[in-house]
Amino acid sequence: MDLVLSIADYYFFTPYIYPATWPEDTIFRQAITLLIVTNLGAYILYFFFATLSYYFVYDHLLMKHPQFLKNQVSREITHCVQSMPWMSIPTVSLFLLEVRGYSKLYDGVGEFPYGWFQLVASVLSFLFFTDMLIYWIHRGLHHRLVYKRLHKPHHIWKIPSPFASHAFHPLDGFLQSLPYHIYPFIFPLHKVVYLGLYILVNIWTISIHNGDFRVPQLLKPFINGSAHHTDHHMLFDYNYGQYFTLWDRIGGSFRNPSSFERNGPLNYVKNMAEEKHNSHGGNGYKNEKLFNGECTKTY
Ligand SMILES: [Zn+2]
Ligand SMILES: [Zn+2]
Repeated sequence: MDLVLSIADYYFFTPYIYPATWPEDTIFRQAITLLIVTNLGAYILYFFFATLSYYFVYDHLLMKHPQFLKNQVSREITHCVQSMPWMSIPTVSLFLLEVRGYSKLYDGVGEFPYGWFQLVASVLSFLFFTDMLIYWIHRGLHHRLVYKRLHKPHHIWKIPSPFASHAFHPLDGFLQSLPYHIYPFIFPLHKVVYLGLYILVNIWTISIHNGDFRVPQLLKPFINGSAHHTDHHMLFDYNYGQYFTLWDRIGGSFRNPSSFERNGPLNYVKNMAEEKHNSHGGNGYKNEKLFNGECTKTY
């Protein structure tokens, strides 16, 4: 984050906002700037990628599903907009520690004997490390002692749209982002890679809510995609993972997505429309029985 901080100071805060007498490396000034930059960055990433996803990827037929709520998209957006500033407070305190030099983030690829190899390996280790921790944190958030208070707000959306991606209770959102923030305090990571991963993590979070249930055949056994996560929203006890299915398989919570078995929410909507179309023939609601209640569960 110190890269972002220096750019923001150089081009904006030092010449136009703060008095010249206020040194750039004052902790209070850094905290204020980080708070502004983090909130702005989070809103830009969320609105830019979720909007793209909503108009170009998301299948709007899903909005016809009976469990898609009234005014859901605007409610998801309102929830995100209200949560993000609260989420940013603990986040900024970790960014501040990192800017003050307590992390293992580094600048030059040449600092390590196998610089480029180390860089690629760090991306993989980051993905596996954060995937493992998010799995357990997410699973912990489903514990009955904390579920209602912290995680239920994210499960209001049974059929999420891309705008539900960041619609969390602030503490829930922060806890699930914690693995990303603690990684560079434990392992060395290149500063630019760290920023790139921040963008990637946000895009991925949107992508598992985007209603595109396809996964390339070769990756199907390994990747936790929108099909898996939508089932998680509907069924609760399965597919807690973020990037991979690995920990769900180890933890016994893996479930082959209903969409892979042509039994998902989109199939339901299509069958419902077909039934409606045929109902003049008198055999309507056959599929209603098949999908409603059997495919979903409510807490
Ligand atoms: Zn979700
Ligand atoms: Zn959950």
